[in-house]
Amino acid sequence: MNNHHVFEELINITSKENVMVNEPLKNHTYTRLGGNADFLVTPETYEQVQLIVKLANREEIPFTLLGNGSNLIVKDGGIRGIIMNLNKLNDIRTTDTKITAQSGARIIDVSRAALDVKLTGLEFACGIPGSVGGALYMNAGAYGGEIKDVLESAILVEPNGNLLTLRAEELDLEYRRSNIPDKGYIVLEGTFALKEGNYDEIKAVMDDLTFKRESKQPLEYPSCGSVFKRPPGYFAGKLIQDSGLQGTQIGGAQVSLKHAGFIVNKDNATAEEYISLIHHVQATVKEKFGVALEREVRIIGEDLE
Ligand SMILES: Cc1cc2nc3c(=O)[nH]c(=O)nc-3n(C[C@H](O)[C@H](O)[C@H](O)COP(=O)(O)OP(=O)(O)OC[C@H]3O[C@@H](n4cnc5c(N)ncnc54)[C@H](O)[C@@H]3O)c2cc1C
Repeated sequence: MNNHHVFEELINITSKENVMVNEPLKNHTYTRLGGNADFLVTPETYEQVQLIVKLANREEIPFTLLGNGSNLIVKDGGIRGIIMNLNKLNDIRTTDTKITAQSGARIIDVSRAALDVKLTGLEFACGIPGSVGGALYMNAGAYGGEIKDVLESAILVEPNGNLLTLRAEELDLEYRRSNIPDKGYIVLEGTFALKEGNYDEIKAVMDDLTFKRESKQPLEYPSCGSVFKRPPGYFAGKLIQDSGLQGTQIGGAQVSLKHAGFIVNKDNATAEEYISLIHHVQATVKEKFGVALEREVRIIGEDLE
């Protein structure tokens, strides 16, 4: 199927406003890196998501999911095929002590919604800039809490386009991973089981975590958050700091002076520069401490030709 036909099919499924062609992905990622998406489509219903998956399967079009772009590095050559973003599916609703949030809702907003109805359990997520879908995919967590602690169930789309409801245990949530990539699931919504709490106490915890985050993280620059997972028995940031890497720069990418676990896009970096710096940090830490740093951030897309 040629690109014109793919475009026609996508606007038939959604609408013209929901299909962008040759869209620069640097406008959709927290690192502000990345080339263009052939097609960036933002469905508005679950059925549209299913139809897009079925179209990609039928026509063998490469297919990629983009959440809030806060844990992704898109390479400079961009991404071929269909890139789907669910940010228009962002409803958040509360029933008793449960909150159900659609995939495109920001987990920060779900955490705030819990505060509004005095439910406790999602305070840890109040500063994580991902979507619900991305948070489930990564089992996102911070300050001693993680999605695994509060997720009850999820509605997903299987690779064949069918809907599926799973209990949280069936997603194999572990430290910064789930089985979502292995199974090729698309998250449509998650239901979180919370507990009744006290508004002032919940707010105090969220304020404290926000203060810690703002004082320790280089939020003034584009970044993907912590680049590496915590290696067993160590802290990635401390290893990087002790390797003397803070401030090291390749092109416009720099190991943050404020938090060594972050690499910031300080000055119009390319993805190539950013990724080279990641490799340099991994090689240096391995050489100095014998520890292999595993990336938390995902790298997708193609190099420039
Ligand atoms: C400043 C900063 C601070 C951060 N702090 C934290 C932190 O404290 N704790 C933490 O855990 N993370 C943190 N992160 C990383 C990031 O916010 C989380 O990993 C988040 O869960 C990623 O969600 P996203 O929607 O941005 O996903 P994206 O980056 O868009 O995508 C990540 C992966 O999820 C997949 N995905 C996205 N949506 C779906 C879906 N609906 N269904 C299936 N797969 C999907 C994508 O295909 C991709 O493979 C931070 C990032 C930044 C920039």
